[in-house]
Amino acid sequence: MTAPWTAAVLRDAIARGELTPARAAADALDRARAAKAGREELNILLYQDDHDTRRQADAVADRVADGGRVPLAGVPVVVKDNIATTVMPTSCGSRILEGYVSPYQATAVRRLRDAGAVIVAKSNMDEFAMGSSTEHSAYGPARNPLAPDRVPGGSSGGSAAAVAAGIVPIALGSETGGSVRQPAAFCGVVGVKPTYGRVSRYGLVAFASSLDQIGVFGGTVDDAALGLHAIAGLDPRDATSAAEPVPDYRAAAAGAMTGVVIGKPKEYFPEDLDPRIRERCDAALDALRRLGAEVRDVSLPHTRLAIEVYYIIAPAEASSNLARFDGVRYGLRIEGDGLRGMYEATRSRGFGDEVTRRILLGTYVLSAGYYDAYYRKAQQARALIARDFADAFRSGVHVLFTPTTPTPAFPIGAKSDPYDMYLSDIFTCTANLAGVPAMSLPIGRVDGLPIGGQFIASHFDERQMFAAAYALERALGSEAHR
Ligand code: GLN
Repeated sequence: MTAPWTAAVLRDAIARGELTPARAAADALDRARAAKAGREELNILLYQDDHDTRRQADAVADRVADGGRVPLAGVPVVVKDNIATTVMPTSCGSRILEGYVSPYQATAVRRLRDAGAVIVAKSNMDEFAMGSSTEHSAYGPARNPLAPDRVPGGSSGGSAAAVAAGIVPIALGSETGGSVRQPAAFCGVVGVKPTYGRVSRYGLVAFASSLDQIGVFGGTVDDAALGLHAIAGLDPRDATSAAEPVPDYRAAAAGAMTGVVIGKPKEYFPEDLDPRIRERCDAALDALRRLGAEVRDVSLPHTRLAIEVYYIIAPAEASSNLARFDGVRYGLRIEGDGLRGMYEATRSRGFGDEVTRRILLGTYVLSAGYYDAYYRKAQQARALIARDFADAFRSGVHVLFTPTTPTPAFPIGAKSDPYDMYLSDIFTCTANLAGVPAMSLPIGRVDGLPIGGQFIASHFDERQMFAAAYALERALGSEAHR
């Protein structure tokens, strides 16, 4: 059900004058309004500004007419609500930032616009990107357009669903532990988490700074490649962004699989993995083998520590990052007894339960007496997880292949135990802990629900990951959506 055009087809039609950016934008807004599942509201988009969208589109039309190089000319794009835009609010799915409009825009947004993309909406998300279902938004849960009684995944569920519902071919999300790849898998679209440092975090509201990275959704591998190419590269405004050259990811489309070694890590295919997911993964690996790739069994032994390590480091950093929402500097303020009372009232009412839980957990693991036992230990284990990946790639493996998630999209309300929810990231949070790039693409369905396969590559080797994804997407054809 993805967008009627890929980004490249749309851009070329606009370049040839067969379609105007204004028409393309208006069509996307119409699709956004029509995106319902039966009579059910999907609640995947939080903000739209039709007037500004029109203005952006007209400006792009002028640039195209002037013969400028506009790689995403007129391509409508949706942006997650924790990425700063100057026209629509940036509320992070939270009450505490309700109505907050940023005075500056994120580098990724500016680059998309420089490339000619038109931002049409901000998307729903789990509050402050904490979650795996987009049920924990202060603005209500989002629904999966393919199965409206189910979650779209999270925390970037709104962006994934906007692509799956065919509203836009490209959307921005953010990743801390799987928040682009997991919803991509649940919604049957492509989702990319770049290498840490590949994309500027300037203007991305911080959750856990050593793990956070802006990521891209695409209806196809090519859409995702175009989107990533537009936003990647060094940014003087983010000291952690890398000076690595940005290759043309689309050139990877022609890459042959002959001689490519694909690692199959045994920890990602546990005994109790759903046999139907295993079967889909095996079929994908068979297809890659037929294209000339070698599939090699490998082990990433510290994978078993990942969830525990992630849920110490991410809340620790979150507790520090979210201290800035104090009723003084941003958004909501609720008066209380003195300054302390105001902090307490504002933060208790402004933050939802999951965010509060993370702040408590993070403050605890960082407090004197527990720091060594939890936070320092977790950092040491994180280094071991990163070393597993380095060892695998040093042994001659070019790219790893795994399932993206242990289950397909679950029903809304099904996971009431937070730990149960945390386990959704079991195959994804390792890449964030190690800083390596990873992506999910559709590899088939189970009970009619999409299943994602994940490629993980070495630092800054997104090109290799895209080469494998282009090849697999081509080989599977319509099987990927059946
Ligand atoms: N689900 C994970 C969490 O709740 C990951 C979130 C993310 O990647 N932003 O922290």
